[in-house]
Amino acid sequence: MDAISYQRAGDIHSAIEAASQPGTVFIGGGTNLLDLMKQGVTRPARLVDITHLQDLSGIAPLPDGGLRIGALVRNSDAANHTWVRERYPLLSQAFLSGASAQLRNMATVGGNLLQRTRCYYFYDTAFAQCNKRAPGSGCAALDGNTRIHAILGASDQCIATNPSDMNVALAALDAVVRVTGPQGERAIPFAQFHRLPGDRPDLDTTLAPGELITAVDLPPPLFAAHSKYLKVRDRASYAFALVSVAAALQMDGGTVRTARIALGGVAHKPWRASATESALVGKTLDRGTLRDAAALAVQGAKPQRDNAFKVTLAQRAIVRAIEQAGGAA
Ligand code: SF4
Repeated sequence: MDAISYQRAGDIHSAIEAASQPGTVFIGGGTNLLDLMKQGVTRPARLVDITHLQDLSGIAPLPDGGLRIGALVRNSDAANHTWVRERYPLLSQAFLSGASAQLRNMATVGGNLLQRTRCYYFYDTAFAQCNKRAPGSGCAALDGNTRIHAILGASDQCIATNPSDMNVALAALDAVVRVTGPQGERAIPFAQFHRLPGDRPDLDTTLAPGELITAVDLPPPLFAAHSKYLKVRDRASYAFALVSVAAALQMDGGTVRTARIALGGVAHKPWRASATESALVGKTLDRGTLRDAAALAVQGAKPQRDNAFKVTLAQRAIVRAIEQAGGAA
């Protein structure tokens, strides 16, 4: 059994100072961290409890018309908040697609950003090979069951996917992650927050050591009238996405003015389908146009042995999500 020390942080600065010691991790809702600790995937020497930091709580409007969601806001509270439901229904839908009601009641927004992959071989320490868990050890998934793994942006070091639903919606909404650390505060555009695996799959994000997520900022709402989060999974609840799509549109009558499309379940990070977005601008939502645009999202896909179905599934999910965002029944 490993000895773990525990410290309750009284303010942000004492939390950051405590995190400067090696082996320290922050604990908020703990819904992923405790799983990782029970499985022996993560073995922190010290937990810094941030759940009492009032500065990280609450949902507040921003001067530009956007919304700030504190890192400690529970997923269920964010999903059901009036401003989120009315102004960012895409995000509310994504929250409610994730996990179970009990987990959503505990899990925080900051923790959801850091949710780790659900690759079977990452969680099962009986497999010695996992570059994400033990850098340089290899990747057991490459010779294993790859049904849930990536088809885009993977490397020969890691083919894991990001499991979060919230992250996919935040990618489509161009959110900004606010952090504070030893070097001060900074704002990280969402596209730059999560990493592709490359040769450092042990690093999921671009957070620097000791940095604490304080909030997520949403830009002014542009897509409340036309958005859809569509999640395809093995069962109707409490399952991770095989493929998910966050689709957000601005429409001029029946014509697309702006499109944002992000995919989940296909890559190490939420995957923005930029070519699909561009192909939709100025077009009507007829099925042929949508199929052509969806095909662009999986150009260059490299499916693994067991997940070629995701290439087709992703295209069909994109078409359906856009149709529903545009108002189709
Ligand atoms: Fe580990 Fe990534 Fe390979 Fe899974 S895919 S076993 S997380 S290195």
